[in-house]
Amino acid sequence: MEKIEATNFIEQIINDDIDQGKVTEIQTRFPPEPNGYLHIGHVKSMLVNFGTAKKYGGKCNLFFDDTNPSKEKTEFVDAIRKDIEWIGYNWAKEVYASDFFEVIYNYAEQLIQDGKAFVCDLSPEEISATRGTLTEAGKESPYRNRSVEENLQLFREMRAGKYPDGSKCLRAKIDMASPNMNMRDPVIYRILRSTHHRTGDTWCIYPMYDYAHPICDYMQGVTHSLCTLEFEDHRPLYDWVGINLGFAPKPRQIEFARLAITNTVMSKRYLKKLVEEGHVHGWDDPRMPTVTGLRNRGVPPEALVDFCTKIGVVKANSECQLSYLEACIRDNLNENAERAMAVLEPLKVTLTNYFGTEELETAIHPLKPELGTRKLSFSSVVYIDKSDFSLNPPPKYQRLKMDGYVRLKNAYIIHCDEVVTDENGEVTELKCSVVENSRSANDTSGIKVKGTIQWVDGATGVDAEIRRYSYLLNDAEYVGQDFGERMNLDSEHIFCGKAEPYLSEVENGVPFQLMRVGYYKKTTDEQGKLVLSEIVSLKDNFNKKGERQ
Ligand code: ATP
Ligand code: MG
Repeated sequence: MEKIEATNFIEQIINDDIDQGKVTEIQTRFPPEPNGYLHIGHVKSMLVNFGTAKKYGGKCNLFFDDTNPSKEKTEFVDAIRKDIEWIGYNWAKEVYASDFFEVIYNYAEQLIQDGKAFVCDLSPEEISATRGTLTEAGKESPYRNRSVEENLQLFREMRAGKYPDGSKCLRAKIDMASPNMNMRDPVIYRILRSTHHRTGDTWCIYPMYDYAHPICDYMQGVTHSLCTLEFEDHRPLYDWVGINLGFAPKPRQIEFARLAITNTVMSKRYLKKLVEEGHVHGWDDPRMPTVTGLRNRGVPPEALVDFCTKIGVVKANSECQLSYLEACIRDNLNENAERAMAVLEPLKVTLTNYFGTEELETAIHPLKPELGTRKLSFSSVVYIDKSDFSLNPPPKYQRLKMDGYVRLKNAYIIHCDEVVTDENGEVTELKCSVVENSRSANDTSGIKVKGTIQWVDGATGVDAEIRRYSYLLNDAEYVGQDFGERMNLDSEHIFCGKAEPYLSEVENGVPFQLMRVGYYKKTTDEQGKLVLSEIVSLKDNFNKKGERQ
């Protein structure tokens, strides 16, 4: 196996291991617990696990860490598989911690035989009360010195279901005075009557994560067990298990920083709260940072991989700006999304000197002339966006005003002759005239206009529900850390807009740049009505607090 040019500290460590002849093939694993949906933090973990193995020509397994039967479900297993495939990674093998329950059990008997584990009758409360503190040693369990024979018998009886839940556990015999709390005779097996999503009721004892994980890694031939920083303090226990069970070669655990992003949460616990309290429509709500939410939003998977690649793999935790993720999405869509026109708040414009209809032409993608053009119909009524007309324009206003000119994108220059208002003074219609010889690409009118705005043809345009999103959470830096206080209760805005008919003809799911509006995904609702939902704004128009400006 060849070394590669290291781009981060993990690759540096792997290169050193290759130099020292410690490894001949790289094996990693992506280890989700099937207790919820994957989020964008997991994409980073995928990149680290699948990506690193791939770079070295090695393999990465999909490893379901299912040692916690009460929270795990097959529904999540299926969703996780789908999400990984969508991101674009392939796993070598699909493996479950539960595949190894028998092996893990046998290793526990081995620890008992070697005098390195004991059955403890203290309750969970008593165990935590005797653990000591960071400055004070813990107290040894009165059951610590049971004989090997007694321990073996009790442990077998635990497995056979002789004892109630929580009445006994198996603990590793390490050091109650260790400065590392995880090494103070940690519990490695508990009694728990809970139906497991794969092994059913076969087991009433389940291994703890810290004990099971190194065994599962070893059984899979994992060379480098890559995980997030919160496991750093658990590494001595990871190594203790490997050393005391005689693993050779012993897998090596390396920790990297978790991905954290402003204006959002990544923790499953909080995401669940958002779903359960009805702040979002579900796990796949387009505002959610879940992989299923991002997919539903129309974010291209390549943009997520690009983002995780660019932020890199480092050893220190930090928070990344959401605007940086958005920039990656925007770069991708600018390149790949076709252009089209829609208005959020339609304002009727009657062109008093224009009669009949006409087919204009527009580029399918301005950056890709090779894609050619498509037709755009034009007639005597068009809709522009309300925000593109002002009755009391500020100085230097470049869009449409009374007695002013503006260019309709890919069409004509128009002049506003008359403003129609209702009894409240609201503008309801504009009467304009088309400037002669001002057609785009063929303009000999001699009139210079500063503003160009998008429009929708009145004769052929279709009604569209346009959904625009703000961030789910305000930024912690400005409003304190509390999750409840940070919630933005007004993050979905629905407009009854209009769009050119082309948008209702294309396939569902296609992303578009709606000119001057943003990047949107096309879908239809149950009634077949056109729905356009925001993927990302055209430019970064959120302030530092995360409010839309
Ligand atoms: P959560 O805190 O959201 O519940 P988790 O850590 O419990 O996440 P797991 O299913 O255990 O989720 O995670 C699978 C892998 O993904 C683990 O190796 C974990 O370290 C990694 N991971 C989880 N969140 C992040 C993140 N924000 N950034 C990078 N890696 C992450
Ligand atoms: Mg976890």
